[in-house]
Amino acid sequence: MKYVDEFRSNDYSKQLVDNLRAISRSYPQKINIMEVCGTHTMAIFRYGIRDVLPANVTLISGPGCPVCVTPQSYIDTALELSNRKDVIMATFGDMMKVPGRRSSLLKKKAEGADIRIVYSPMDCLTLAAENPSKQIIFLAVGFETTAPMTAVTAIEARKKRLGNLFFFTAHKIVPPVMEVLVKDKDLNLDGFLLPGHVSAIIGTEPYEFLSEDFNIPGVVAGFEPVDILQGLNTLVSLISKKDHRIANDYKRIVRTDGNSQAKDYMNKAFNIVDSNWRGIGKVPKSGLEFNRQFEDFDALKHFEICYEEYDGGSGCRCGEILKGKINPTQCPLFKQLCTPENPIGSCMVSSEGTCAAYFRYYKGP
Ligand code: SF4
Repeated sequence: MKYVDEFRSNDYSKQLVDNLRAISRSYPQKINIMEVCGTHTMAIFRYGIRDVLPANVTLISGPGCPVCVTPQSYIDTALELSNRKDVIMATFGDMMKVPGRRSSLLKKKAEGADIRIVYSPMDCLTLAAENPSKQIIFLAVGFETTAPMTAVTAIEARKKRLGNLFFFTAHKIVPPVMEVLVKDKDLNLDGFLLPGHVSAIIGTEPYEFLSEDFNIPGVVAGFEPVDILQGLNTLVSLISKKDHRIANDYKRIVRTDGNSQAKDYMNKAFNIVDSNWRGIGKVPKSGLEFNRQFEDFDALKHFEICYEEYDGGSGCRCGEILKGKINPTQCPLFKQLCTPENPIGSCMVSSEGTCAAYFRYYKGP
């Protein structure tokens, strides 16, 4: 398949692995790299990239899965809203199995709540128009990749004068949480494999603080094996030369200044606010909420919900996993009580979750 096969080439992948090993031989110090994108985590496992890394290079999975970083209190509040007889709740499929304290959206749906899976928030425009006697609530989670679509949907809903569409927003923005991680001395990070999808929206400029303030390099990479291996080559090479720049190895998608139209939509609808990340806590200026012009779309305000944030218990160690402190095999519940069929925590639910990636691909030791 043109434009895909080249990025899955065995020969070129092998050359990149050999080159990575050669760089590592010339710089044998321990190198800790964090990938902050759940799609990277999955792709790294799927293509066996961890198995071919030089011994001194460690990949640490970070908080790159938007469903995983959403606090349990958000799920519980969504469940509470779904109890209302006048509500149709719309959500991405990944949210359905995430456990709240006592239930999940999947169980609520089985009990009769009107919960619909949508592929885009724009689907909610049709839902709202076709169900004028119902209140439609979209569960708006995700990073800078999905936030522009929430903004566009609210803008369109206003144009169409839809008065029955609301959003329960928990959108998050990625660079501020990276600052928290880079300041964490336990992690001792040497570099970041930067998220391709998020960077397609925000560009590379928002990561420059890593280089300027913390002397940490980063490389934006795509999601095919050649993309990831090329990104690791560039990153390990930068680290070995003590060159702290932010590089872009995904130029076919990512521009330095990102996608200006998507950013305009976000700026039009949202304010940047402090936000709670599961396991990490309150991160300054890392969330988005509707601004004054769009606050009538805010489900919490419309339904007068007093929202208190908290994380889950149940022995789940998602918080430490999202911070890169442990890997899933160090959680006693992994593969025992916690499986994708019966997830105890959000990291086992999402297709981008680290525990789900380990469950599917990790073979040993
Ligand atoms: Fe939580 Fe399950 Fe992951 Fe353990 S294996 S951290 S219980 S999601």
